[in-house]
Amino acid sequence: MKRIDFLKNVALLSAGTALLPKIKLFQDSPFTELRGGTGIFTMRGGTIGWFVSDDVTIAIDSQYAEPAADFISGIDSFGGGPETILINTHHHGDHTGGNGTFKESGYRIIAHERVPVLQRQSADDASAIVAAEETFAEQHELDLGNERVHIKYYGRAHTSGDSVTWFREANVAHMGDLMFNRLYPFIDRGSGASIENWINVLETVAAEGDSDTQYIFGHGNPEFGVTGSADDLLHKRDFLTKLLEHTQEGINAGRSREEITSQESFDEFPDFISPSDFLSLPRNLNVAYQELTEGNG
Ligand SMILES: [Zn+2]
Repeated sequence: MKRIDFLKNVALLSAGTALLPKIKLFQDSPFTELRGGTGIFTMRGGTIGWFVSDDVTIAIDSQYAEPAADFISGIDSFGGGPETILINTHHHGDHTGGNGTFKESGYRIIAHERVPVLQRQSADDASAIVAAEETFAEQHELDLGNERVHIKYYGRAHTSGDSVTWFREANVAHMGDLMFNRLYPFIDRGSGASIENWINVLETVAAEGDSDTQYIFGHGNPEFGVTGSADDLLHKRDFLTKLLEHTQEGINAGRSREEITSQESFDEFPDFISPSDFLSLPRNLNVAYQELTEGNG
């Protein structure tokens, strides 16, 4: 770049700084279309998945009140039908915090039966909770004519109430927080999480799809994103396996909990990063230690 161009660009940049937030909003829509009427919405909190057809509009997870309102007004432009349904993948606040906004807009809410229970258990004020009125123990199917939606519970994993929502025709599945893509995950032992079973769940869900299945993830390392394939699920399975193996080896060798859980990263998983101060490999190892020494409670 010639110096004169460089100077011109610098001048443009500083003059334009005040406009940048607006321009960014305009360019980066939180909505991304996938296929067969499905898509994702990313703003704040766990990834919202969606499906639209002439008859229905379906949202999976609700983030928080504010992004929920943006979702509800924005999804109209994708032509969804009048029957509106919200599915909660699990109870955490960054996936259910917008439930009230959806409900006020007429969405009916569906979730695994443990979700309302865990929402109430973990709330400061249980009376303020907006929870699913339709629940299921194993699975729930919605026949929409041109699409079959299959919501399935696979057992304890990230919590004790995680479900996967399959769009069988589109061949798209929303994993909720069963997938923290290349991130140190939250393992909510207080809500009945099981690392051991989480490993089985990922393997089962990966096998239930095929090489074309597109998976939506609750959270993702920005470099890797919030959608992917069965390979990403198996990579997470391998990480969770390593978590238990590292911890068990330490216990067998007579190392202290502190020694075992002080490891900051695994060489085999160089892409993993911490999504927040609250999540790290030492935190994950501490949960693994508890699971191996105290059982699945
Ligand atoms: Zn979660």
